[in-house]
Amino acid sequence: MAQANAEPIGLDALCQAAHALLQPDRFKDYGPNGLQVEGKPQVRHLVSGVTASLALIDAAIAQGADAILVHHGLFWRGQDGRVTGWMKQRLSRLLAHDISLLAYHLPLDAHPQLGNNAQLALKLGLSVQGCFGEQDLGLWGTPTQTDPDVFMAQARALFGREPVLVQPDPRRTWRRVGWCSGGAQSYFEAAIAAGVDVFLTGEISEPQAHLARETGVSFLAFGHHATERYGAPAVASHLAAQLGLTHQFIDIPNPA
Ligand SMILES: [Zn+2]
Repeated sequence: MAQANAEPIGLDALCQAAHALLQPDRFKDYGPNGLQVEGKPQVRHLVSGVTASLALIDAAIAQGADAILVHHGLFWRGQDGRVTGWMKQRLSRLLAHDISLLAYHLPLDAHPQLGNNAQLALKLGLSVQGCFGEQDLGLWGTPTQTDPDVFMAQARALFGREPVLVQPDPRRTWRRVGWCSGGAQSYFEAAIAAGVDVFLTGEISEPQAHLARETGVSFLAFGHHATERYGAPAVASHLAAQLGLTHQFIDIPNPA
């Protein structure tokens, strides 16, 4: 890790650049986007990760982070707001080490080049043709390979795991693919309405298996974490290059 050469920049400059890039005001979200925990006023080393878990925070401390940028921050609508237990552990580590936490949820899914969904398109060779679902977060497009077995092999290699697959008709080619990272199983019907042959997301719930069988559209769940590993480092490395920061992505593996 080479952080000695980076000139520090103001935390404000980092927050402003992230805001300009991700435009969080365009989204109705489940928690606050942007600076969630304020640390030291100067930033040299930026760590990115998927979730502001204790393991990520501890790893970032060990790497000398001044700020952490994540997809899943600490605060969500519906929490009871008490700083006890796991919340105390995570917050106290950040505050003790004066590390800022920036979190971008839906804006980080949706950024047209750097977001989770755009990065999935890039890595799976999908060309984006349109969008669907809540706030147009889901994307659909065409794969380079319409053979389900070829597409699956490529996706397995990318995500490094076996998916949950519901494939009602193994002979049906996948000419139109819909995808949305993370817990987007509730977008399945919107994807079907967009005319997809298969929908790829992170998670599946009980109703989607039936919907897949009854509509003939395949459902692929490759893991919430596995499908959301690409947006945060893409955004953070873009910001680091723009601002002259050092950056590293720290992956905390997660079976979910
Ligand atoms: Zn998520």
